[in-house]
Amino acid sequence: MEKVLSDKNLEDLRRSLAGTVLVPSDPEYDTARRGFNALVDRRPAVIVQCVRTDDIAVAFDFARAHQLEVAVRGGGHNPAGHCVCDDGLVIDLSRMRKVEVDPESRIARSGGGATWLDFDSATQAFGLVTPGGVVVSTGVAGLSLGGGIGHLTAQYGLTCDNIIGAELVTPQGDVIHTSTDQNADLLWGLRGGGGNFGVVTRLEFRLHPLKQVVGGRLVYKGSGVREALLRYRDVVTRSPRDLSCQVALAIDESLTPILEIVQCYTGTKSDPEELRTLRSAPGLIEDSVKIHTFLDQQRVIDSTYGANRHYWKGHFVREIPDELLDELLKRIVELGRPPGGMMIESLHGASKDANVPPSAVGFRQAAFNVSVMAVWQNPALDAEQIAWARESTAAIEPWSFNGGGYVNYMQADEPIERVRAAFGTDTFSRLQRLKQKYDPHNLLRRNQNIPPLQ
Ligand SMILES: Cc1cc2nc3c(=O)[nH]c(=O)nc-3n(C[C@H](O)[C@H](O)[C@H](O)COP(=O)(O)OP(=O)(O)OC[C@H]3O[C@@H](n4cnc5c(N)ncnc54)[C@H](O)[C@@H]3O)c2cc1C
Repeated sequence: MEKVLSDKNLEDLRRSLAGTVLVPSDPEYDTARRGFNALVDRRPAVIVQCVRTDDIAVAFDFARAHQLEVAVRGGGHNPAGHCVCDDGLVIDLSRMRKVEVDPESRIARSGGGATWLDFDSATQAFGLVTPGGVVVSTGVAGLSLGGGIGHLTAQYGLTCDNIIGAELVTPQGDVIHTSTDQNADLLWGLRGGGGNFGVVTRLEFRLHPLKQVVGGRLVYKGSGVREALLRYRDVVTRSPRDLSCQVALAIDESLTPILEIVQCYTGTKSDPEELRTLRSAPGLIEDSVKIHTFLDQQRVIDSTYGANRHYWKGHFVREIPDELLDELLKRIVELGRPPGGMMIESLHGASKDANVPPSAVGFRQAAFNVSVMAVWQNPALDAEQIAWARESTAAIEPWSFNGGGYVNYMQADEPIERVRAAFGTDTFSRLQRLKQKYDPHNLLRRNQNIPPLQ
């Protein structure tokens, strides 16, 4: 039911903020409420576009006073559509996108609503990087808080492994700082535990020197796809630390399988053996791998914002034996129509180092993240596409690492058991204690939710 806020209530809110208030009658409202996933179409009562830390506490107060549900919006990419709620209040951080870089100490301070384009542009100006997401319009905070897998995972670990500090506003309006020697329990929880504990207004990251990579896309079609997939699996299983690699399996209109290997090599060899192995697989129809800047690498993958309906589901797996690989090849044809597909991300290299910082991440020891991604436009296909994603995920389950999926890719309909499994029972209980401390009334529940310990 639509919540009615009086003009006086809204005027009071506007006066208390440095940012902007949008309601359904405003011309900017429709753009501001849209997220990446067109399957999610929600109409909040009010959107608060914050520009400073104090605005967030004001927004929380207003939500509490008017009993409004709260959603937090960074880059708007979460496939569950958690950045928007019906009849509630959206804390929109898209105007808090400043990224400051200290090249001497190799630290970046990123505003709560910054995207990877904002971040990479600022850090690359100094020839520095942190391992982030592969689509530059994705939010830095949203991605990092859930873990973060991308083009530099093998080299520098998960994105959250590189978080060294944060500023956050709790639902009570307290501004909390965390670092390795201040509220370290919170830093542990922010590394993987999602947006459960407060609204992050600033994240601090460790940076690494990197200007150029050997990157791009290798595309295979038809009968060569199986062999290329086998080679991909075997190459990354040898754990080359200077090669991050992920693949997307799809079909064309004639239901012929297509495989894209997106790779990012940062070593010193001019013709690395791993790349030779992949390049010589049969069925190669496109090879755009070349030396280019890291910013160009970040442009290799793109995804249209707000146009397609998405339903994603998956499993971290212990391994990809031939049997699972054949199952994926069978299921991709059963999709029956493009687009959509399956993505495999390898978790080899730095994210498994013994000295990674303490974190709530539960999937670190898995070998791969296998995600089934239904993508379509026609609402009449909703049931068919969702069923394909669910059934294909069930087929992967026998190889599941922990029974849970990747919190960053989960839809909103995942049961709490899957969220608990994603972290493991002990880590989930510890996260619940942290939630009890920072958000005891679970005001931040539109997320992969960790309910407070009762
Ligand atoms: C096209 C696409 C590409 C992607 N690529 C990758 C990838 O390469 N690697 C990867 O690991 N993941 C990837 N993801 C998944 C992505 O990391 C998650 O969906 C993430 O939640 C998106 O963050 P966002 O800020 O863009 O989303 P939003 O929908 O705006 O936010 C999602 C949730 O994150 C939390 N949140 C966001 N900002 C804050 C903040 N400042 N403070 C507190 N909580 C916050 C809130 O709970 C919010 O509801 C991708 C998703 C898409 C759609």
